[in-house]
Amino acid sequence: MVYAILDELLPSHIQFLEQRDPFRFMISVILSAQTTDRIVNIVTGPLFERFPTVEALASSSLKEVEEIIFPTGFYRMKAKNIKACAQALVDKEIPSTMEELVKLPGVGRKTASCVLGDIYGKPAIIVDTHFGRVIQRLGLVDSKDPKKIEKQVALLLEETKHYRFSMTANMFGRTVCHAKKPLCEECQLRELCPSAAAFLQASSKG
Ligand code: SF4
Repeated sequence: MVYAILDELLPSHIQFLEQRDPFRFMISVILSAQTTDRIVNIVTGPLFERFPTVEALASSSLKEVEEIIFPTGFYRMKAKNIKACAQALVDKEIPSTMEELVKLPGVGRKTASCVLGDIYGKPAIIVDTHFGRVIQRLGLVDSKDPKKIEKQVALLLEETKHYRFSMTANMFGRTVCHAKKPLCEECQLRELCPSAAAFLQASSKG
């Protein structure tokens, strides 16, 4: 039911990161940890202008990379990871399984799921802060642990719907079910949501 409502409500194509080339997309996802996609989209333009290929990033100056990606936060660690990731991928394809992807520097399950879903069109539940919040508020899972959320949501839906649901629930979290003030009054999932009453009561008290 939740899947169908969100599927109907949200655009058929959802894309948060601007870089579409598979390698650049993966680097963008690594950079998106602890920051917003808006900031990632701002820095990836200059980053790939300066280092356009896997090889160029692999042999880049760490200091120069750090300077470019500074606005994303955790820039030292991220610069080290994206350079090491590029080095690991010189003359190789981007892996297409979770097991192989998480072996790459800086690539955790969330980044790997993004790559699997976006680049390879494989089933992927992508648990980021927005997705996790929406799913928990809707009472679809009983855990805050991203790995458990991923597993529990995966069992609720057939595989062909995994990636689409990741994107719609994520976008819904960004636009309606905000972290601080969710728009419960106008929410199309209100009737199904066990958290709605408490939020509505809190907002009516001002
Ligand atoms: S009713 Fe409120 S808490 Fe529940 S999904 Fe909608 S916006 Fe989020």
